[in-house]
Amino acid sequence: MIGRPTKQDKEKFRARLDGGRMAPANGLRPEAKSLFQAHARLAFEPLSEIRRVQQDLLTRHLEYTLRHSPYYRGWVSELGLNLDKLWSAEDLSVLPLTDKRDLARHNQDFQAVSDEKVVDIVFSSGTSGIPTRVVYTERDLQRLAYNEHQSMAAAGVGAKDTVLLTCTMDRCFIAGLAYFLGLRSLGAAAVRNGHGTMAGHQEIIRRLSPSVLVGVPSFLLKLGRYLQADGVDPSAAGVRTLVCIGEPLRDRFMQPLPVTEQLQQLWAATVCSTYASSEIVTTFCECGQQCGGHLHPDLAILEIVDAQGCPLPVGEVGEVVVTPLAVEAMPLLRFRTGDLSMILDEPCPCGRNTIRLGPILARRDQMLKVRGTTLYPGAIAAALDQLPEVEEHYLEVASGQTLSDQVTVHVAVSGTENGAEKRIVEKLQTCLRVKLEVVVEPLSVIRAQVFSRNYRKPMRFLDRRKAE
Ligand SMILES: [Zn+2]
Repeated sequence: MIGRPTKQDKEKFRARLDGGRMAPANGLRPEAKSLFQAHARLAFEPLSEIRRVQQDLLTRHLEYTLRHSPYYRGWVSELGLNLDKLWSAEDLSVLPLTDKRDLARHNQDFQAVSDEKVVDIVFSSGTSGIPTRVVYTERDLQRLAYNEHQSMAAAGVGAKDTVLLTCTMDRCFIAGLAYFLGLRSLGAAAVRNGHGTMAGHQEIIRRLSPSVLVGVPSFLLKLGRYLQADGVDPSAAGVRTLVCIGEPLRDRFMQPLPVTEQLQQLWAATVCSTYASSEIVTTFCECGQQCGGHLHPDLAILEIVDAQGCPLPVGEVGEVVVTPLAVEAMPLLRFRTGDLSMILDEPCPCGRNTIRLGPILARRDQMLKVRGTTLYPGAIAAALDQLPEVEEHYLEVASGQTLSDQVTVHVAVSGTENGAEKRIVEKLQTCLRVKLEVVVEPLSVIRAQVFSRNYRKPMRFLDRRKAE
């Protein structure tokens, strides 16, 4: 029989709280809160202070990683590294890069803690289609909560907000959990509707009037149009901010893509982009100024590198390389994300003095060369998005002649197919300055390819180059 708690029970409970064994209401244990909030305002400090703190944190991260990670341990003798020196962000570039293949092939060796300390296991999308295991400790989840707290706060989200999450919390993804932990830390109310139906999301919007929506841009666009078709005006729904994941919002020159303008108009909301991955567990989130994702300087070192792994100057497009700081379970050094973008460093009106990450232009292995012109799949998709008749599409790439890729754009159109092919070819030529082959096919055929059960995400890029 369960009785009323005795005085001893209450004391035991209090002792557990004091010992930091139970999480307080804001989701951060006391020790983790002090650990990760020590530099919560660092982004607003002068650059010299940011560099000084980063040097200290990076030195500690290197020391921990090189001592505890079986994969990196060998580097100390192999590369003759001096563990006693202070490491600056510039010093880091002498170290080799780590890529997704390394992480997949030597997965267990990347784990720097015993299995008992692991509290969460996810899978990231691997290069060969086989998801790669990534593990986290309790401290890593506290770090994740702080990371997302900082990101959401930068996007203008606060304790008064009700936030509809349209991304999944389960299926071994980390993103949904990260948003939830960050929102909980902020004191905002999360509505975890995940991959619900359009009608389900509409009902939530009607009943709870969320002020913030988190989701994939193309999905939030569809959701807005769904509401419109049902006679509901999304711009009057009270949504103030859209935090967008998974697809870019801006082009190489930071100009909004058509989807961004459509979202702004439809929802009458500020549209912020956010970028992260399971491996780097650090988010680059735009502030309300919408001019690139701010780096959390106490959580990561950001580099953009060329094909040889050498750091590129600010503004040049290359591969995003991240060294996440203070990670416990699977610490990484110079992790190649495989994504192409650039660093922006013009002062941001929000007052943060950190560099920012531009839009993700493409996967490194999805960059196309067509008759001497470099093309990104995102630019082709952005051009197609300007044509309302295009319902769905994917790209098929094969090896062409004379170092040129053979790109075929498969498209489904609404209404009549008469002349559609010609119209789309012309539109692409105007936007991209190259002529691409366009094939119009029934919507069911295109959808079968894009939403194949073999992939975890919609697949709009079919690469036949490697198989040839
Ligand atoms: Zn800013």
